[in-house]
Amino acid sequence: MKNKANNTTPAIVDTITNSKKRTRNASQSKPKPEPEEFPIGGDIEDFQFREDEVADIRSSLLKWYDVNRRDLPWRRINEEDATDNDDDDEIDRKAYAVWVSEIMLQQTRVQTVISYFNRWMEKWPTVHHLAQASIEEVNEMWAGLGYYRRARFLLEGAKMVVEEGGKFPRSASDLLKVKGIGEYTAGAIASIAFKEAVPVVDGNVIRVIARLKTISANPKEKATIKNIWRLAGQLVDSHRPGDFNQAVMELGATLCTPSSPNCSSCPVSTQCSALLKSKHDQSALVTDYPTKVEKVKQRLDYSAVTIVEILESEQPKVNKSDWGSKFLLVKRPEEGLLAGLWEFPSVSLDVKADLITRRRAVDDYLKSSFGLKLHRPSDIVSRDEVGEYVHIFTHIRLRMYIELLVLRSQVETDFGYCLRTDLHRKKDKGLVSFKYVDTKTLATMGLSTGVRKAYNMVQKFRQNRSSLVSR
Ligand code: SF4
Repeated sequence: MKNKANNTTPAIVDTITNSKKRTRNASQSKPKPEPEEFPIGGDIEDFQFREDEVADIRSSLLKWYDVNRRDLPWRRINEEDATDNDDDDEIDRKAYAVWVSEIMLQQTRVQTVISYFNRWMEKWPTVHHLAQASIEEVNEMWAGLGYYRRARFLLEGAKMVVEEGGKFPRSASDLLKVKGIGEYTAGAIASIAFKEAVPVVDGNVIRVIARLKTISANPKEKATIKNIWRLAGQLVDSHRPGDFNQAVMELGATLCTPSSPNCSSCPVSTQCSALLKSKHDQSALVTDYPTKVEKVKQRLDYSAVTIVEILESEQPKVNKSDWGSKFLLVKRPEEGLLAGLWEFPSVSLDVKADLITRRRAVDDYLKSSFGLKLHRPSDIVSRDEVGEYVHIFTHIRLRMYIELLVLRSQVETDFGYCLRTDLHRKKDKGLVSFKYVDTKTLATMGLSTGVRKAYNMVQKFRQNRSSLVSR
């Protein structure tokens, strides 16, 4: 973590002395009023910030933020020509930038988001541009960020805003009506773009407030989160709500980190109950807050993924690597995990299964869903196990067995011998959409990280044995 010097508030000098990262007071600095609640415990409903604490925290944090804030592209948009008289279009442009950045930031680290955000804003600089996009384009832009539902909601939300007249609702409560905008995002847009004095609460804010007030309640519980919102609402500065909210999050992201808080540089160290407690009680650590909650155990699932490649010619077309191949892709259901994304055919397995069982399941699936009949050995050019890997979702560890199945173009299908490019087929559980795409299309499509990884594994597998295999 990068520690930044703070020259705006008197700092308590603390040292992180051992591997357990204990934070202790090492010197006496200027006397400041101490948080009176330490060590309070008790019902979280009773926690309050005193008026003088609120004033101190606001002033210290904003001063620190003015000096230390990171220069980020979405902040630049919001700081451009910042006046109290921004015209409506300008305010909407800012709201849109906050929206896009906040949704991306819910996915991954700031450093990763920067390039995604810049590309996104270049392609769709306003909500009107985004509303014209297709879901394929949006998924392509989002590829690699994961949790594609959020990307789809951005698109649907943009369409909603444009259909309602092209203006974002001007308050946090009204923003909640836009598809994909939840309480956190509404608070961020309203406070940053519209200057409404509403709080935001994310993991960083929970951590900072839990430490400021030595809150030991389970931070995952609804009641705790509700009360953190209430406390964050007490703190938010009515003159600079957007800056204040960003300052708290920035503090959590850069100084008040989960395991290595840099209390010696912290602008609100004199208001921090957890730090005070650690000075009085050698066994207490600031990192005791918020309370650690045991992670939900991830479920282990298995899946057989088959990359079906159809050779359109018996000879390479232009160079040795171009056989005019087409790859079978199937669209995932519109609801649930990775909704609406294209992927290679895959079969979920109840348990870990051997190769024969997997192939049997795959063959049934290819026949019932895509009409591919694999009963003539002459149709199969090759069939190889490529490898396996584990893809981690929030609550699932998915072990994927990757296989490459290369077929001749004459392979028999329910549709005769001709492979069409866009097909829909009725199945018991609805419509299955699938298509055959060439290598070039595959390379530019918005595919999930898991699908891209499977394809890369196949490429690598091919390279490794290219000198041995002759088609
Ligand atoms: S708010 Fe965080 S970084 Fe600041 S003194 Fe408290 S524990 Fe340390």
